[in-house]
Parts: sequence; C-alpha cells; structure tokens
Amino acid sequence: MRLVPVSLRGRFALGLGAVLLPFLVVVVVGQFYLLLRLMGPLEDIVRELTEEMEPVIRMQMLLLQAAMPINGYLIHGDPDERRRFVQLRQRVERTFEEISSERFTLAKEHALIGSARAEWAHAQRLGELLLRLPDPVGNAAAARDMRRFDAHIERAVSTLDEAHGVFHQVIERNLAQIRAAHTRALWAVFAAFAVTTAASLFAGVALARSVTDPVDTLRQGAARLAEGKLSHRVVIHRNDELGSLAAAFNTMAGRLEADQAALKQLATHDGLTGLYNHHTFYVLLGDELARTQRFQRPLSLLLLDIDHFKRVNDTHGHLAGDAILKGLSELLGHQARAMDRVCRYGGEEITVILPESELDAAASFAERLRTAVAAQPFDVDAGAPLRITVSIGVASWPAHANNAQALVAAADAAMYAAKQRGRNLVIRYEPGLGQLATLGERG
Ligand code: GH3
Ligand code: MG
Ligand code: MG
Repeated sequence: MRLVPVSLRGRFALGLGAVLLPFLVVVVVGQFYLLLRLMGPLEDIVRELTEEMEPVIRMQMLLLQAAMPINGYLIHGDPDERRRFVQLRQRVERTFEEISSERFTLAKEHALIGSARAEWAHAQRLGELLLRLPDPVGNAAAARDMRRFDAHIERAVSTLDEAHGVFHQVIERNLAQIRAAHTRALWAVFAAFAVTTAASLFAGVALARSVTDPVDTLRQGAARLAEGKLSHRVVIHRNDELGSLAAAFNTMAGRLEADQAALKQLATHDGLTGLYNHHTFYVLLGDELARTQRFQRPLSLLLLDIDHFKRVNDTHGHLAGDAILKGLSELLGHQARAMDRVCRYGGEEITVILPESELDAAASFAERLRTAVAAQPFDVDAGAPLRITVSIGVASWPAHANNAQALVAAADAAMYAAKQRGRNLVIRYEPGLGQLATLGERG
C-alpha cells in the first residue's frame, strides 16, 4: 500500500507519531474539558461561597448580637449599652451595604435582603427608643417592645436564611452542570481515545506493511535468484530506500543473467565459428540418441572435413582459412533444419546431427551440402574469393552403431573413405567400405 512517499526513516517517525497520537489527543481533550468545563464551574462555586455566603452569615451573627446591648440595658440599665449598640448598628449598616451591592446578581436575593433590611430598620428604631428610656429595669412596656425587637430580628435572620436557600439552588444548579460536563468529558475523552487509537492502529499497520511487503518481495526475489532463476525481477515502484534496493536488485539480476548467458555461450560454443563445440556435440548427441532410442525414431550423423585445407592456409594465410571456416559454418547453418545440430568437432571437421533422418535422407542432405559448398565462393579479407570442397561421411542409428562413440567412428570411417576415394564426395558408412556407395561426383 502506498501511504506516504517518504523515506523509511520518515515512515518510522510517522509510525511512532501515530502510536503517540491517541495519548496526545486524550491529554488535549482532557485538558480542555477538565480545566474549562469542570474546573470553571467549581471555581465559580467556591468564589460565590466566599463572596456571597460569608457576608450574609456575618450579617446574621451581627443581627443576633444587636439584641444583646438592648437586653443588657433593660436588665441592668447600664448607659454604656447605648454605645455598644451604636457600634453594632454601624457594623450592621456597613454589612448591609456590602451584601446589597451588585455582587448579588439574583433579583430574588436582592428582594430578600431588602426585606431583611426593612425588618432591621424596624428593629433598629425600636432599639433606639428602648435605649432612650430613663428607667428601663422592670419596665413592662419596654419588655413588650423588646419582644417586638426580637421578632423583627428573627424575621430578618430567617429572611437571610431564605437568601441562603436561593444561593443553595444556584450551587445545586452549578453542581448539576459540573456532573453533566463530567459525563460529557468522559465520553469525549473515550471517543477521542477510541477514534485516535483506531486511526493509530490503521496507520501503524499500513506503515508496517509499507515496509514489510516490499521486504517480502525482495526476500522472495532473492530466493528465486538463489534457485538459479536469473530472469526473475522484483516489482517495487517506490522512491525510497526500498525502491533503490529493488532497482539495484534488478540491475544485479540482469547482470548475472547476462554474464551467465555469456558464460554459457562461451562454454558451449566455438569462438571462431559460433557452432556448438566438441563437448556440446557429445552432450547433444547423447540427448538425441536417448530420445531416439526411447521413441524408436531414426537419427543420422554427418562428419564433414574440408579438403586440402592445409593448402589454403599455406597459400592464403590462416586468416583466410579462418574466414572460410566462418563462411562454411554460416552456409551449413542456413542449410540445416531447426532441429539439426551443427557442431565444430575439431580443426576443420564439422559434425551435423540429423534427428528424424534415415540414412537415405541424410545422404541426400549431405549431397546437397557438398554441392552447395563446392558452388560457393568464400570471401576472404585479402584477395579474390576462394572455393573449397568438402568430404562427408554419413552414418545412421541404429543401422551402423548403438552408441554415440560408435556412430562418430562410423561417420569418421565413411569420411575417411571419401578422402581415400578422391575427396569432394559423400560416402555412406557400410561395414565393408570396399563397396562404398558413391553419391557425389569428383570435384
Ligand atoms: P585433407 O583433405 O586430407 O583433409 O587435407 P587437409 O589439409 O585438410 O588435412 P590436414 O589434417 O593435413 O590439415 C588440416 C588443417 O586444417 C591443418 C590446420 O592448419 C587447419 N586448421 C585447423 N583448424 C584451423 C583453424 O581454426 N583455422 C585455420 N586457418 N586453419 C585450421
Ligand atoms: Mg581436411
Ligand atoms: Mg581434418
């Protein structure tokens, strides 16, 4: 799979990033939800508690304390209680100012604090009247007014309790928000983790495969090469290290294949003529004889020798002799069928294996060759074209031999007989070579 066109280093870095991605996302999402959605409302609650509740509670304590100097004055008649009341009254007023400010956003809270303040105003007036009495101790009317004073204070305190209740509702609402946000945060973190883990797995597998697949292809390619299948090539179209490795692998396989082909050519063919060499002749003849014996088919062998070739060398030089050997090989190659095998047996001796050919057909073919050679002027580098003749011995399996060596010996005997009879002849092998059949004319 072609996921990203980067180097292997890049791929491994991406893979590591993909593995770490879920944790990174969870940290970011968790941070976002936990800090902003959960910590925000929690901080609000704590702030409101300290900013709103604390002065209200202090207010209630002060209101309850305000009764004490008046009670003391009615019991003991101590005029100092007036001063204490004035001090308490001032603190009550300041605290009312404080809790009536805009910090208290709810209208209901404002209204409750307002009515508590009104109760306090009644109580305060009563308290000041009581503190002005010249003989408070044992005064029954004063005791009645004191109870009214206490009733006002009590209502003011309970009205402030109601304000508490309103505030508690706000806190409950905030807490409910926090719980909902907490649930959402858990789901968001879970979903983000699940999605990114899936993405990370997918990316991890894809990246791993983008490395292991081509490595596998290369491994299989190397195994094929080791088996000797040098024509095998790997197909990896990529611009990274593995692509370069595949290209180098293919170049190497191409060189090995070419070298092997060149070595094989050198080992099996003759360098001058391009014909099969002596060794390959025997390999081919063995194979053909095996096939021939298995399927009971005929096979013939020609052994051809250039007449008086030494004279050509002596007269025109060895290069001219070489050119003639090459020209003769080409001619034989053209005349032979695809299934025939033309081989350089030795110096100027050439064999032709003729599968599926009876003795008569082989002799006719040999005769055609002899005629063609005699009719062919061979170009040599220096001087006019030269003409040569050849003597050819013909032997067949199974009539003349039952193995390769014997067949070659029979063809050789026939060729020798042709030389004996004057050259430029085709002679079939016969056990009594005294009665040799002459198919060709003397050149
Ligand atoms: P014959 O008709 O009896 O076969 O006579 P011949 O001269 O052909 O026979 P001989 O065996 O005396 O000589 C064969 C010659 O073939 C000897 C050698 O110089 C020549 N010859 C063998 N191989 C090559 C080769 O590769 N190049 C050249 N130029 N000559 C070769
Ligand atoms: Mg010769
Ligand atoms: Mg010879």
